[in-house]
Amino acid sequence: MSIWNYANPQLKDLVAYEPGKPIEELARERGLKPEDIIKMASNENPLGPSPKALEAMQAALAECHIYPDGGGYKLRQAIADKFSVKMSQVVLGNGSNEIIEFIGHAFLKPGDEVITAEHAFVVYKLMATLFGATTIEVPDPGYVHDLDAMLAAITPKTKEVFIANPNNPTGTLVNQEQIDRFMDKVPPHVVVVFDEAYYEFLDNPPDTMKYVREGRNVMLLRTFSKIQGLAGLRIGYGIGSEEVVGVIQKTRQPFNANSIAQAGALAGLLDEEHQRKTKQVTDDGRAYLQSEFEKMGLEYVPSYANFVLVKVGDGNIVFQKMLDKGIILRAMAAYKLPEWVRISVGRMEQNIRCIATLKEVLEGKE
Ligand SMILES: *Cc1c(COP(=O)(O)O)cnc(C)c1O
Repeated sequence: MSIWNYANPQLKDLVAYEPGKPIEELARERGLKPEDIIKMASNENPLGPSPKALEAMQAALAECHIYPDGGGYKLRQAIADKFSVKMSQVVLGNGSNEIIEFIGHAFLKPGDEVITAEHAFVVYKLMATLFGATTIEVPDPGYVHDLDAMLAAITPKTKEVFIANPNNPTGTLVNQEQIDRFMDKVPPHVVVVFDEAYYEFLDNPPDTMKYVREGRNVMLLRTFSKIQGLAGLRIGYGIGSEEVVGVIQKTRQPFNANSIAQAGALAGLLDEEHQRKTKQVTDDGRAYLQSEFEKMGLEYVPSYANFVLVKVGDGNIVFQKMLDKGIILRAMAAYKLPEWVRISVGRMEQNIRCIATLKEVLEGKE
């Protein structure tokens, strides 16, 4: 008798998420020194964490024998103040990814439908599958979410629509007009999730908070993993109406956001200087990478985030050859983009080494 006679059937064909390769793992596998490796695979902050966050976490460590504030009072209050909402409209997650799962717990049952773009962040589909829901992947011409087509895909079974803005791995953005047209028509039985993990990298971010203020069924997801440089802490947040967030709060474990993460995130949130520097490094690095791709005659998708999707031929081979040279990129076959790799923007010296190495690899001089 197979275990699959008892396990939930939707798990059988579920392919687990494959994260960016850790530096230590590559070092072990290839006998490289960790300090000679650069990881440009997970859209992490190349400047490291906010120094203020580090200081706050060191102070918090002394109290780590005490359970965290399960209500996350200080951090939720600071987030609420920053965005002029009530604390009751903010929920913390063990990474914003956890909130994607909460939304599933709150709204999905087997047979329901979730709508995403064809090349959307893959965690939406993973989570939908976990709950036995079906993911409708709507074509995204030019790798941009087609919100009109996503609207047209809504049925009475649709429970959630995910709009990743900018999207990962494509780096593309939908604009205010497209969002407004979508929100004008979306029916109330659908929860619209705006995943804004890269929000702080935008020069003119679309206003989605207005839909929260209007009490619409929306959730905005944000994270400390990207511009604040705190990916290892696993902390993110969601903002929605009091009603929606009230439901979501019931789905989480009491201490899902740990005390060190709460302390680091609070200091990181307030450290505008570190965020400003990170945005500058990202803007400069992205411009450099894109102009080099242009010179090399490589097709790329112009990005609004801290990574660029670039077409290199056989993405998996290029990924492997770059690994041999100590550079970790992200192969994109899991996103049905086998000819592409995604490169996270690094510090300038890292970007320069990455481009020089990519040239060697593509010219076959390895
Ligand atoms: C990186 C990323 C997140 C953030 O994940 P965390 O769990 O907060 O680290 C969420 N959504 C997208 C689209 C991302 O790329």
